[in-house]
Amino acid sequence: MLSKLNSPQREAVKYLDGPLLVLAGAGSGKTRVITQKIAYLIEQCGYQPREIAAITFTNKAAREMQERVGHLLEGKSAKGLTIATFHSLGLQMLRQEAALLGYKPQFSILDSSDSYKILADVLATTDKQLLRRTQSQISQWKNAFINPDQAKAQADEELTHAAAKVYQLYQQTLKAYQAVDFDDLIKLPVELFEQHREALEKWQRKLKYLLIDEYQDTNACQYKLVKLLTGVEGRFTAVGDDDQAIYGWRGADVENLRQLTEDFSRLKVIKLEQNYRSTVRILRAANQVIANNPKLFDKKLWSELGTGDLIQVSAARDEDHEAESVVMKLMAHKFEHRTQFSDYAILYRGNHQARIFEQQLRNHKVPYTVSGGQSFFDKAEIKDLVAYLRLIANEDDDPAFIRAATTPKKGIGNTTLERLGEYARDHHLSLFAAAFEGDFQRELGARQLEDLLTFCQYINRVQERATRDPAGEMLNDMLNAIQYEAFLYDSEEPRAAESKWKNVLDFTGWLTKKGNEDEKNLLELTQMISLMSMLEGRENGEPDAVKLSTLHAAKGLEFGHVFLIGCEEGILPHRESIDTDRIEEERRLMYVGITRAQKSLNISWCRKRKRAGETESCEPSRFIAELPHDDVKHFGMPTSDPAAAKENGRERMAQIRAMLAQAKE
Ligand code: ATP
Ligand code: MG
Repeated sequence: MLSKLNSPQREAVKYLDGPLLVLAGAGSGKTRVITQKIAYLIEQCGYQPREIAAITFTNKAAREMQERVGHLLEGKSAKGLTIATFHSLGLQMLRQEAALLGYKPQFSILDSSDSYKILADVLATTDKQLLRRTQSQISQWKNAFINPDQAKAQADEELTHAAAKVYQLYQQTLKAYQAVDFDDLIKLPVELFEQHREALEKWQRKLKYLLIDEYQDTNACQYKLVKLLTGVEGRFTAVGDDDQAIYGWRGADVENLRQLTEDFSRLKVIKLEQNYRSTVRILRAANQVIANNPKLFDKKLWSELGTGDLIQVSAARDEDHEAESVVMKLMAHKFEHRTQFSDYAILYRGNHQARIFEQQLRNHKVPYTVSGGQSFFDKAEIKDLVAYLRLIANEDDDPAFIRAATTPKKGIGNTTLERLGEYARDHHLSLFAAAFEGDFQRELGARQLEDLLTFCQYINRVQERATRDPAGEMLNDMLNAIQYEAFLYDSEEPRAAESKWKNVLDFTGWLTKKGNEDEKNLLELTQMISLMSMLEGRENGEPDAVKLSTLHAAKGLEFGHVFLIGCEEGILPHRESIDTDRIEEERRLMYVGITRAQKSLNISWCRKRKRAGETESCEPSRFIAELPHDDVKHFGMPTSDPAAAKENGRERMAQIRAMLAQAKE
């Protein structure tokens, strides 16, 4: 079983004498160590699957790992094994221990637009910038495990002090809604374990071994959770690469890597140096770019996969030209090398860069999937239905109440809602509870009251069924009851309505299947959806497709051939990062991008680009100049001999056109 590992990897898998950190560069098999170690613990060391938890960075990575472990275990069952993100592990803990924190188990999970609206209420403003800033400040406090009182005490300027007050009101509102936000899913379990020794001991007994992938991107709160759960013995394996820390903007702190060595004096560190992913040239490019950052740890990386092709760097006239050339190159390459579409990835810094490439791919009928983009769960029609589900699970969820009560319209008007809101606030009740108060009811006209009560009573009736009846059946009944299809056709163009209704059917179909597979009822599914909606989109399941992804979302993945697009100053590195002197994190993003490639790497940039309606000229990213010259071939680049470079580019395009023509025949 351990034969597919090199010797330091094997050592890492077998090491169980204390806390272990595997510190190594990209593609060196860190994730493979985790997967193999899970199987090793179960097969060779007598661990029960339910005693092990592995933490991945995305739900998708969790699913893939689950699948691999399944294969490795052959006959043995992995039932009960936890492979999850920090957030879903936190949710699992909170759900079981909710009562200790004064929450009911069906608490709601708010997404970032819900939090935004709550903040807008608390601050009584619509100033977007102020709201975003406050939202991000609160999130940073939570990630650093700072509660409102501490935030107030620490605030040294008036603005921060004001934000700390808002933080407090925001927390009170969440509690009143029986709701938690994304950051709470980690902060609350830490609070719980610090305050309730018995609960901590129970979870320590339950989870005997913890494995953590992508450790460099944990934040202070997540690190606290690891320390609490693994106790003084430190029963964990963490793997990570400080050069791939790319979530600093979200509160992750690569310091946590160094902190490990201080907090656990018995920490063993194993380094892996052989890269099994990329050619020598790609690896050399990655190593050379990242060498421009000051280093935290000394690491080496080498590969036996051959020198490989030159890295191509192409300058395009503008973004249309870039998209066209990339797609043509990709198609020609595929034809030439008889590869699959799924061997290709187009990677970029920001989501907005994808659209123009999507258009080109569609024009050429190339199948593709987009990840890290607007999530399926962010679509209005899906959020409508999720609002109903959330309200059924937790009638105190006021944001869900407002959305469900007004979509589709059911006679509950703004005046009713305003009065309800005032009454609820004055009496410290949720909107739902306030609706049943006699004093409030007397304020309303007979029609208004009837419409409101019809809705609330309907929710009550569905609640009764929710723990009992199959999720799929309930969903279908609900769609009928609220006449959602008719609502879509009344309020949208026929084609838009059709497409939205299809999404609804996709969603209910998927939920029904999920409910059957995992034997989950509607309430359990609801919390799972809330969590998914915040983390990532749902893949559309096309098996052979080009992958479009942000660099952030491509972490941990690998592709035969990578196109890294928009490599310009102001994009990668990002303008804001240049202004705030955060180039190092941008360079790590570039490193992550380069190291996703196995066999070939194409980097491109535009000489001109439209920004807010104006055409601007652009400079190639400083990271392009950091690539090793001998491993790079430039196209269309104003190098030492501009005429030759241009000719070069023309020739290559002509070759590609000829090849495509041949492919069509
Ligand atoms: P990243 O830093 O990008 O997350 P990683 O260190 O987690 O990379 P893996 O994804 O685990 O690296 O491995 C990279 C590739 O090398 C995978 O295709 C994996 O299957 C392969 N690999 C890892 N170890 C070995 C090995 N000992 N022999 C052969 N292939 C290996
Ligand atoms: Mg990995």
